[in-house]
Amino acid sequence: MKKTKILCTIGPVCLDKKILKEMVQAGMNAARINSSHGDFTQYKKIIKMVRSLGEIPIIVDTQGPDVRLKIKDGKGFKVENGKEILVGFNSSYDLYFNYNFLNQVKKGDMILMDDGLIEFVISRKNGKHIKLKALNDGVLRNGLSINSKAIRIKGSKITPKDRKTILFAKKMNVEYIAISFTSGAHDVKEAKKMVKGKNIAIIAKIESPEGVKNFKEILREADGIMVARGDLGVEMSLEQVPIIQKQIVKKCNQKGKLVIVATQMLDSMVRNPRPTRAEASDVANAVLDGADCIMLSNETAIGNYPVRTVQEMAKIAVNAEPLVRSKVNYGNLNGIPDTVTKAIAEMCENLPVKKIVAITKTGFTARMLSRFKFKQPILAVTADPKTARQLKMYYGVQSIVLKTKEKERILQVGNYLYKNKLADKDDLILFSAGLYTGIEKSSNLIQFSTSLHMVQDLLKHHREFLKD
Ligand code: PGA
Ligand code: MN
Repeated sequence: MKKTKILCTIGPVCLDKKILKEMVQAGMNAARINSSHGDFTQYKKIIKMVRSLGEIPIIVDTQGPDVRLKIKDGKGFKVENGKEILVGFNSSYDLYFNYNFLNQVKKGDMILMDDGLIEFVISRKNGKHIKLKALNDGVLRNGLSINSKAIRIKGSKITPKDRKTILFAKKMNVEYIAISFTSGAHDVKEAKKMVKGKNIAIIAKIESPEGVKNFKEILREADGIMVARGDLGVEMSLEQVPIIQKQIVKKCNQKGKLVIVATQMLDSMVRNPRPTRAEASDVANAVLDGADCIMLSNETAIGNYPVRTVQEMAKIAVNAEPLVRSKVNYGNLNGIPDTVTKAIAEMCENLPVKKIVAITKTGFTARMLSRFKFKQPILAVTADPKTARQLKMYYGVQSIVLKTKEKERILQVGNYLYKNKLADKDDLILFSAGLYTGIEKSSNLIQFSTSLHMVQDLLKHHREFLKD
């Protein structure tokens, strides 16, 4: 069973029930709606379709305050090396930017489009528009992202458009919202305030120098982190990206926070049926770094081989997983949940444990266990279907929804596993839970199954005992 989770961006080429189903069979675990493209009607269609396929977590990704190119007729626009294009800042132009940065740039500044694939230099500028000289050939598409070290967008990273997206995501009751260009803890707090009361987890996307600089405070506030390498690679120097990736993943693992490595993982598969060797290495290395989840963007949204890309990614990940080692620093673990989960990690190293079962209310116990990258699968048991779906994003975690009574929790779950053939009768199962604490986030219990075929008997005796 694949432990690494695959997050697929849903776009025109896979918005088809049959294709999506094949992607899920191939190893897709979660769906991303990228709100830089499309509209609410389309997002609703995506959500309905994904929901119809099963218990799949959905992530709504905000556009962020990024600068995008708009093409009035929505069609592709060819550019040629050395030729100039005229770009305005409102919809009266055929080509225009959605954000007016005219007074931040000067002649000679570089403007990169499509994650830096097409380079331009500003060749002319007046009070209304700019002329850009292309430095290579390429095809511009509506909604392409723009990056330039000269352009800095100040203030809150949650734009009026993103507020609408967040409220939409809240109404649709999705599992996660990803905040683009998170620059500090305040952006995460703002998003959390907006979804209050809904159990929607917030993922901070690290894709700017500000995000990298303020990572520590962002990590404290966010439920998860995305290493958004697309923008990061043009907002910062490209050579910093692999190092930042490793550092972020490690810090997320230490705290048991979800971490997603994103963008261009199998980019050549947008066009080709086989990935490059470098891409295969990139996927494997993200898994070895300790990512919970790896993401596909254009590959599944607009590529020629959406299903095949997921198959390739899954194969590469599965092959790397036996070599994955926990990066958690034991010296920095303290408090009861940390210590309990550390003890479990040691037990799983030394005992022939078949499965780890985390009985959890908020998902905390399962998340704290997932960070240790066990060779054993983790089964999260929770009464809340939403929490169960959220947990499906974490490395090695599967989840089921089951209401348990606190006093006979372990026996009940043991019975369920045995009945549903999720465990064999002689399997050694390790159960972990918060028991009799009444407080959240307080895993304090470790218990081993004896023989599962005995649990039904035990359960009966237990109930009789409680009656007395
Ligand atoms: P995006 O985010 O695809 O929404 O731009 C990911 C990235 O920048 O890598
Ligand atoms: Mn981005």
